[in-house]
Amino acid sequence: MTVREVCPFHADDDVAGAWVSDEVGWSFTCDRRGHPQPGPFSWLRPPEPPDIGEMTGIAAELGLDVSLPEVLKEYRGTWVEYGVLERAFAVANPKQWHFLMDRYGHTAVAAKQYTVSAFLGGVLGRLWRSGVVAGFTGEATGRWAYNRTTGYWALFPEPDRSSRLSWADSGFTVEYVPGQTEE
Ligand SMILES: [Zn+2]
Repeated sequence: MTVREVCPFHADDDVAGAWVSDEVGWSFTCDRRGHPQPGPFSWLRPPEPPDIGEMTGIAAELGLDVSLPEVLKEYRGTWVEYGVLERAFAVANPKQWHFLMDRYGHTAVAAKQYTVSAFLGGVLGRLWRSGVVAGFTGEATGRWAYNRTTGYWALFPEPDRSSRLSWADSGFTVEYVPGQTEE
């Protein structure tokens, strides 16, 4: 499947998206000149849920637009890999986490196409688009490395790219996922 999007700074040109992962969706890069920052401009399109109305409804009901960015406060000044954010969210919001696990499942339990991680990635993508959280595409590490790349997230002002906490460096495990079958 090929998806194309128009660069926000070059309305006359569209670029093909590269699939990143279930948590991130597609990544687009425009190589032309004339972006606010010198060099190529990159942006993301979050994965599409089976039902967008359902996603926004559930996200609103669970208050995720608030509780997801809230988790990043703990890591202010640092970019955190998606897995680190997911775990922190699960630990801080056990009721919401269990609700989402029951509904969507997790790759740590069984390989799935649309998971709670894809769901939360979609919500993060939406928050990123509306300027609530900052994000970029970086290396996926540890148990998330099957994705090759994933999202790194932070609150504004954007931390320096050298200040980041990967899943592998965090030393965390997926023990926060009920029924997980990994180490
Ligand atoms: Zn452009």
